Amino acid sequence: MVEKQSGSEWSARRIAPEEIAKYQTDGRDFLDDAALEARLQPAPPPEPARVREIIAKARQIQTLDLDETALLLRVADPGLWDEMRQAAADIKHKVYDNRIVTFAPLYLSSRCVNDCGYCGLRSSNAGIARRTLTMDEIRAETEVLAGRIGHKRLVVVYGEHPQSDLDYMLNSIRTIYAVRVPARRGMGQIRRVNVNAAPLAIAELQALRDAGVGTFQVFQETYHHATYRQVHPAHTIKGDYSWRLYCMHRALEAGLDDVGLGALFGLYDWRFEVLGLTAHALELERALGIGPHTISFPRLEPAANTPLAQNSRWRVSDDDFEKVVILLRLAVPHAGLIVTARENPGMRRRLLPLGCTQTDASSQIGIGAYQESHGGQDDQRQQFMLGDTRTLDEVVRDLAGLGCITSFCTAGYRCGRTGRCIMDLLRSGAEGKFCKLNAVLTFKEWLDDFASPATQAVGAPLLQRELEEIRTQQPRIYPEFLTHYERICRGERDLYF
Ligand code: SAM
Ligand code: SF4
Repeated sequence: MVEKQSGSEWSARRIAPEEIAKYQTDGRDFLDDAALEARLQPAPPPEPARVREIIAKARQIQTLDLDETALLLRVADPGLWDEMRQAAADIKHKVYDNRIVTFAPLYLSSRCVNDCGYCGLRSSNAGIARRTLTMDEIRAETEVLAGRIGHKRLVVVYGEHPQSDLDYMLNSIRTIYAVRVPARRGMGQIRRVNVNAAPLAIAELQALRDAGVGTFQVFQETYHHATYRQVHPAHTIKGDYSWRLYCMHRALEAGLDDVGLGALFGLYDWRFEVLGLTAHALELERALGIGPHTISFPRLEPAANTPLAQNSRWRVSDDDFEKVVILLRLAVPHAGLIVTARENPGMRRRLLPLGCTQTDASSQIGIGAYQESHGGQDDQRQQFMLGDTRTLDEVVRDLAGLGCITSFCTAGYRCGRTGRCIMDLLRSGAEGKFCKLNAVLTFKEWLDDFASPATQAVGAPLLQRELEEIRTQQPRIYPEFLTHYERICRGERDLYF
């Protein structure tokens, strides 16, 4: 009872109305439902020539406008979808080459004051074991992730609760960055902590920036105002649509340059959410000059005692979900696209070539589960159930078999290649050159320190092909690169361009 009262007092102070109003026009959100719905009204299929003009614009790595994205949504001809599918794959290759960045989620707290209808951690779900990790427990979780599995990047996930307030977030991030664990040859260490949390105020976001946070993610869940109201009770903090919608404006203003957008697919019409994400990206570019660093598109997954997660009438089929990825790749061509272990291995294999750039592996989303679960899932401890529980070693091997190099690179943000700077580099193709070098160096590190013999056997010929490609395509930098590479072979770590 005491905790509940202090929780509601805490909740009442969370939202700063002036940090919403300053970005709105005449008190209205930039997201205009009627304007999006109007674009989704039945209309004849578009002219192929116009579709091809829009594809050509996306191939120039230019963000599409809402009319262009809506027009692609109306394509019915399977042949044109094949052309869009090919363009999505080509854009991914042009901007990000054959690299897939990997990370792991780390849930630190299952306490939450909100009551989101789709989420196993919602406050009214009495069947969930609640826990907030201590700093010692966070250290122990990180030791498994960095020392046993070999991750270099985490996305750290918090419920919204006084026990996981800003001080807790800052302490936990410092704790994670401080961990060092001896690995086979080098030292296991987390080099980039991304955060997925509730919306924060500008001063709090500045504190996260100062703590060295990489990407700051807040998913809008649904851009459709009426659906948002249905699934997020009005008396909760999350019930305030606009506080959430303008969080990325605040983050960019606070100097957190890499922001991650997302929508939870399955709450409302997937076509509306694709337009919503595109509108959000366009608005950030317009208002702050920086588009989203990443876009996430989680699909609703089953969660304990959570009927909405299974019964929603808007659940997205696999074929439509593929269209979501193709359309996002074309509409916001510079953004990283994250496909998570919510999706099963077959679906991940299907979606990755269409333009995804990041994926997680060895994921455990129960609180404390990296140390305690030994690979299983427990719906009483986690927010929802995962579709892919393969280890990082298995995923790296699978990707290598598909010709993709798993990148553990964290250099970009440590060298200041973030925000507008990285957007320009991505659009020009220049970032790809740094990324290729760093991807190969970190892949070699990981193979030496953590890979099984089977994965090393698949990874080694891929590495040789990559070295040859760098030698022929980047001859000027190749000698310096080779020196770095040889130092890594001798056991030095964390060398990057
Ligand atoms: N509590 C914070 C929040 O809601 O913003 C942190 C993020 S929450 C733990 C991570 C994300 O998981 C949510 O933003 C939502 O999109 C997603 N999620 C929630 N319930 C889900 C479900 N049943 N299936 C799939 N994803 C879900
Ligand atoms: Fe809390 Fe996030 Fe779950 Fe909503 S989605 S109940 S805010 S943990």
